[in-house]
Amino acid sequence: MAIATVNPTTGKTEMIIEPHSAAEVDDRIGQAHAAVAKLRESTFEERSSWMRAAADFLEDQAAGVGELITIEMGKPIAQSVAEVHKAVKAMRFYAEHSAHFLADSPLEDPAKVGASVAMSRYEPLGVVLAVMPWNYPIWQVIRFAAPALMAGNSGLLKHASNVPQAAMLLDDLFERGGFPKGSFRTLLIGGAEVARVISDERVAAVTLTGSEPAGRSVAATAGEHLKKAVLELGGSDPFIVLPSGDIRAAAATAVAARINNNGQACIAGKRFIVHTDVYDEFAQEFVRLMSELVVGDPLLPETQVGPVATEQGRNDLIQLVEDARKKGASILLGGSQPEGPGWFYLPTVIADLPDDARLVQEEAFGPVASLYRAVDDDDALRIANQTSFGLASAVWTNDPEQEALFVRELDAGAVFVNGMTVSYQELPFGGIKRSGFGRELAEVGQREFCNLKTIWKA
Ligand code: NDP
Repeated sequence: MAIATVNPTTGKTEMIIEPHSAAEVDDRIGQAHAAVAKLRESTFEERSSWMRAAADFLEDQAAGVGELITIEMGKPIAQSVAEVHKAVKAMRFYAEHSAHFLADSPLEDPAKVGASVAMSRYEPLGVVLAVMPWNYPIWQVIRFAAPALMAGNSGLLKHASNVPQAAMLLDDLFERGGFPKGSFRTLLIGGAEVARVISDERVAAVTLTGSEPAGRSVAATAGEHLKKAVLELGGSDPFIVLPSGDIRAAAATAVAARINNNGQACIAGKRFIVHTDVYDEFAQEFVRLMSELVVGDPLLPETQVGPVATEQGRNDLIQLVEDARKKGASILLGGSQPEGPGWFYLPTVIADLPDDARLVQEEAFGPVASLYRAVDDDDALRIANQTSFGLASAVWTNDPEQEALFVRELDAGAVFVNGMTVSYQELPFGGIKRSGFGRELAEVGQREFCNLKTIWKA
């Protein structure tokens, strides 16, 4: 894929960017490697002040960066600006909390291990490569970079090829705040060149957010070179509605969960599993609200659903829906793309999916919702857990026993009760099964790219 900004609203190529040559990539890895020594010598206080200054700089540009996000990947402008502010908040969060998250942890009674002093300490690993997707082009990068840099690592970014302007903006963001030269560097390269960067001996670890094939490839290379990897892959999250839940609130939240980011979020509710006693009521309200969504130019403030980010992404959706249609599913709403330019796909609701429909197993990355009827709690759990993914999940119930059952039995990295899944900087984020491994955010995410060093003194 060319490294280019192709506006998904118009289909027009706005900018093509020359990839970095092998020599430039080598130089940039060298800069990141050289920065590690300087970062190791710096204090939490220094890094905090640099991070806060970088956050201030990004915040000042929120409107312009928001517009850039919308032009590169098509999300509604208010969501783009909100993404920038969320990133700024995370930068300040790690500026404030890293010293505490990574504080030395002394053993209370060192004599137990025959020592006068015994403790553990979090030290940076070195250069960490981040392979990032286009769906939250600023937030996904910052949620890696802010904790990693605050821990004293340096970062290399291989961003998705369709968001090169976001990638270049991030290239010097941290240096503007005062971080040493090379603390963070963008590599303008294609996916095929990632293996070479991972295998470079100056690179210590890798994190990837993206699809399952990309995750497999990165994990295989990391494994071959025995390097730490964190993978945040796709999800086909269940959103379960049970009779004791607030059905109208569930339906309204279900719409937000499905269409936020034009339906292209890994933790979006994608499969709506509804108890048969409230199925009709929920389905009617859900379809009604989905049908009222304003689809259009994402730069206009009234737009709620913009285009899918890439032509390939829309083709994938078309194929998934056609597969379901051919196999006998009911299309309750949408199921087609409007005439005209851009990669729009209409908000779609599909029910009565046979087990062999691809939508039952695969992730729909766009505004396509699947409805499932469950006969009881066990059936709801069976449907929820039947995919190979295990990222997040939501359940709507006001019955404490039912809540406890679903919290325990859902195979997922997160369970949200009476709400939609959202990532919070204070909470760990990540999945199980084919949704990946490792965690981002909170203190546990920051510790992923640290060496937990045990110190023992006689
Ligand atoms: P990809 O996984 O292809 O892209 C994500 C990142 O990985 C990009 O930087 C991409 O680079 C890179 N990449 C792709 N292939 C490789 C590889 N073999 N080795 C190393 N890096 C690689 O996602 P797509 O944009 O193609 O989206 C396809 C599907 O992925 C979606 O439909 C969705 O299911 C899932 N996805 C999930 C996301 C999430 O948040 N969990 C985010 C984005 C996608 P390049 O752009 O140069 O190909």
